[in-house]
Amino acid sequence: MNLSQCELCPRRCGRRPGFCGAEDKLRIFRWGPHFGEEPPISGERGSGCIFFSRCTMKCLYCQNSPWSWKGEGKDYSAEELAGIMRSLALEDKVENWNLVSPTPYLPFIREAAEILKKDGVSLPFVWNSSGYERVETLEEYSDLCDIALFDLRYSRDETALLASRAPGYVSAARRAVKWANDNAKVIVRILVLPGYAHEAIENLRYLAEEVSNEVAVSIMSQYTPAYDALKISPFNRRVLQEEYQSVVDAADELGFENGGVQGFESSAPEISLFGENMNAGYGVTK
Ligand code: SF4
Repeated sequence: MNLSQCELCPRRCGRRPGFCGAEDKLRIFRWGPHFGEEPPISGERGSGCIFFSRCTMKCLYCQNSPWSWKGEGKDYSAEELAGIMRSLALEDKVENWNLVSPTPYLPFIREAAEILKKDGVSLPFVWNSSGYERVETLEEYSDLCDIALFDLRYSRDETALLASRAPGYVSAARRAVKWANDNAKVIVRILVLPGYAHEAIENLRYLAEEVSNEVAVSIMSQYTPAYDALKISPFNRRVLQEEYQSVVDAADELGFENGGVQGFESSAPEISLFGENMNAGYGVTK
């Protein structure tokens, strides 16, 4: 597939490989039923996660650095991806296909989806994303977005640049969430970052004022320093209980009632779920 003019994400590199490192081939690190997503996503039978290699963000605290930064994984054809998705649907009987950071590979995923459609195999698609998306791309591939599981990670562009090298993140992610609220089911993930609880609160306020406080939000305490964050303060520590509580209180005050709040105690991460500790290929994650 020729993606040499790639403009799939807000970086609009116009070339492959571009900033994300993805080439003209589909690359996947891992797939399998995942039971650790938000309850409506994991359901009883697990969410059929497919972890694509490379990522349009470069987060210094990335837990999946082996494949998202360094591109580990294997190249697959669209037909092979269709085979993976088919076996997730028919053998694992997962609740949905959960596309984790799919943006650089959307044309291949569309091709796989069309093969499955002809075969009469269908499941809802979860588009699982940092939120750093273009609305034009979401429109073009809206058939791959029944459920948008989008982050609102930063409310200030200087923080997005510092922590994820993502220029224009705030407006891109906010537009993406608005689009998702109008066109799909949406869960907005608010990952509370150490030293940046105020940005999580600013994003909740944005949602309440500019989108709706009926949006489902998933407030997450699980931040754990990894990769380059181990060397950089304040990203080299966990979130403090009072920081986290300030975000939970703000969500209450702003009237958010849909979604979920991780208990602070669940901030102790499941280390086996760190990308650095996960094997490539098929695997079930609890
Ligand atoms: S998906 Fe990758 S190559 Fe395409 S515009 Fe984004 S960063 Fe550039």
